[in-house]
Amino acid sequence: MIQSFNISKLGYNISCIQQLTDHIKTRITQYEEEPVTYVFKNEFFIDLLFSIFKRVNNTITDQHRMFREATDPVFYVKKKRDEYYSVFQKYCHGATSAAIFGEIICQKLKEPIEQSVYRQTARDLVDEMRSNCPSLNGNRSNLEKHILRRLAEEENFDKYINYIYDPKDHFKSFIRDEVSQYIRDQFSVQLKMNQNIELLQKKIMTAAHESTQHVQENRGNVDVWLKFFTQKLSDVLMFSLKDFSGVKHDDVDDFKLLEDVIRKDLPSITSDISREFSTDSFKIKLDVNNRSDEILIDHLCQCCWVQCPFCGAICTNTLENHDGDHSVTFHRMNGLMGGDYYGTQDLCVEFCTTLVASDVSFLESEKWFKFREYRTAGKVYEEWNITPDESKLPYWKWFVCKFQNVLETFYEKKIQNEGKIPEEWRKYTFDQAIESLEKKCIL
Ligand SMILES: [Zn+2]
Ligand SMILES: [Zn+2]
Repeated sequence: MIQSFNISKLGYNISCIQQLTDHIKTRITQYEEEPVTYVFKNEFFIDLLFSIFKRVNNTITDQHRMFREATDPVFYVKKKRDEYYSVFQKYCHGATSAAIFGEIICQKLKEPIEQSVYRQTARDLVDEMRSNCPSLNGNRSNLEKHILRRLAEEENFDKYINYIYDPKDHFKSFIRDEVSQYIRDQFSVQLKMNQNIELLQKKIMTAAHESTQHVQENRGNVDVWLKFFTQKLSDVLMFSLKDFSGVKHDDVDDFKLLEDVIRKDLPSITSDISREFSTDSFKIKLDVNNRSDEILIDHLCQCCWVQCPFCGAICTNTLENHDGDHSVTFHRMNGLMGGDYYGTQDLCVEFCTTLVASDVSFLESEKWFKFREYRTAGKVYEEWNITPDESKLPYWKWFVCKFQNVLETFYEKKIQNEGKIPEEWRKYTFDQAIESLEKKCIL
């Protein structure tokens, strides 16, 4: 919803907050209308609002800053003051029109160069991480393996709950953390940006040189020069003839001088830009779509996110809206989503794959259905293909032993009686649990 406000283009308006608040209120009401046995207090609504707004604060602030930079006249004039001053200075010193125009070109290049360097660096970081980071160098299934490993290492039950109930959100924050950590440990933003700006500077100088050659060979005028120049740079810079509307330049005729001025002035422009290079500026200067973490999220998270109605395992299909049934190789025990034995407070430790082969029934919308015929229980069940088998990932057996107490507290239920943990589950070590993710072994 926040994305749809398009704040970077339209600016922040206080009504955004009202719209968001209404939206959240509606969602809560909708939720309460579902078969739940509780109501939310007003305090819950307020806490939820605060927590959401706290989370999106940075996004909104960043986007509004971008809007201001692009549209606020005061901001714009302030920024242009230095640029025009140096052009004016040249003019006062009696510079020729070619020298003045060269200076104008350099000033106009400043922003596109900056944007290009930040974007290129973000893409370089993505490429580097895609080949160097074990968690990010494959598909989502590979990523999930690393997420489960990290969860086990951190032993943080809250994070498990986030993973179980909002997997996409968890995957996203995992990727963001990986990117921040990679920047902290092994990627010098400054170094990469300096390399990129140097390359870009060379390209611009070459383009200027070739444009002069082109005009001299073809007896062209300054418009031909400019057209050739902008075209040469079109794949590396957001820079076009349009940027020169309103700039008088038709009396420029010394193209060698024009090229020389650019060659001479450009380094001071690029060093102005590079002075600001830092890990912080890298985070702020890029708009959302061009940030490394968002590119990676886009790349790895455009898959099916539908969860098994029994155990919450995520469908492994790599297409977001795919044909055919949802499916996943490894289901988990039902108790993970709070499933219990009817009439008891005992969490169910059976795996979906075992249940669908059994005569056990489950309750859905106050009706009983056989697990064997789970597809008849309605839409969310109908679309799943759960193959009956005995595949039980040791990872989840280890998990339920390790987190038995917190799991019981979380659901206010017990793992006992019928749902007692089989003794052999307790023999799995941390290493074996992790190994089972690697080998995908099933015993
Ligand atoms: Zn399942
Ligand atoms: Zn699916």
